[in-house]
Amino acid sequence: MSAKLIKGTDIREEILEEVTKEVAELKEKTGKVPGLVTILVGENPASVSYVTLKIKTAHRVGFTEIQDNQSPDISEEDLLALIDKYNNDDTINGILVQLPLPKHIDDKKILNAIDPDKDVDGFHPVNVGRLMIGGDEVKFAPCTPAGIQEMIVRAGVETSGAEVVVVGRSNIVGKPIANMMVQKGPGANSTVTIVHTRTKDLAAHCKRADILIVAAGVPGLVKPEWIKPGACVIDVGVNRVGTKISEKTGKEVAVLRGDVDFDAAKEIAGSITPVPGGVGPMTITMLMVNTLKSFKFANGLM
Ligand code: NAD
Repeated sequence: MSAKLIKGTDIREEILEEVTKEVAELKEKTGKVPGLVTILVGENPASVSYVTLKIKTAHRVGFTEIQDNQSPDISEEDLLALIDKYNNDDTINGILVQLPLPKHIDDKKILNAIDPDKDVDGFHPVNVGRLMIGGDEVKFAPCTPAGIQEMIVRAGVETSGAEVVVVGRSNIVGKPIANMMVQKGPGANSTVTIVHTRTKDLAAHCKRADILIVAAGVPGLVKPEWIKPGACVIDVGVNRVGTKISEKTGKEVAVLRGDVDFDAAKEIAGSITPVPGGVGPMTITMLMVNTLKSFKFANGLM
């Protein structure tokens, strides 16, 4: 059997088209568009390229985008004042502070200073609490887990009553996706198990999974014999396992591998995400969805 490929690149296009259409309609109706600010401190190359992609995507869907680049020497006090300024700016619906921050700045203090109603990353403790409660309480689900759930739903995989096994218990992927899948409601209602480094028999748990979500950061951790025939396999892992010369650009690029042995797993799974091109493209996509949601909340449209 060869599994159905769940391509994040295709789902991204579908969702971004939906967001673009809705932004145009809202502009017509309200005369306003969602506003997103990205705050980048310093020039860490990985951060620069990530922020650039966020800005490009925000422009594509029709948002107003403010790119606020700050010197690496900015004081914690000045950065807090900057966040306060955007918290009080009605044209801004989403505030993103790109991590990592320089060592002299306490990133927890900075992230917690963002107005939870503009925290489109969904990492503020208030939003973590809202996610835990579930239902109407939820404003912003964190973007990578939200992308994972969206992929499962759009692939037509039944979640109600499904055995979901999540490998990894991080605050940005494992714990929130487990919490989302166990909630009452569409795209959830699952029976969820979280496994991690202290789990006694990882294989036995994985073998039970109708939906296996792997976010460990260990290349090839999940072996094909751990996969239940027909299961939906979501591989969140992005691991650099070497470099190669790109055929397109002639430049050296990273070779990326997931946490699942993809070539063998695709012969057993019912559906599976590739790496790259699977979960990866979903994170920024869901950031746009959250910013649009924030705009609708702020304008009494939700
Ligand atoms: P993390 O290091 O914070 O957490 C990894 C978790 O996996 C830990 O809870 C750990 O207990 C568990 N784990 C590690 N090795 C294990 C093992 N051998 N057996 C069982 N459990 C094990 O990582 P993270 O931030 O959650 O990211 C996980 C992976 O997902 C990474 O490869 C990361 O690059 C990737 N990621 C991708 C996206 C995206 O595509 N948009 C977003 C976030 C993370």
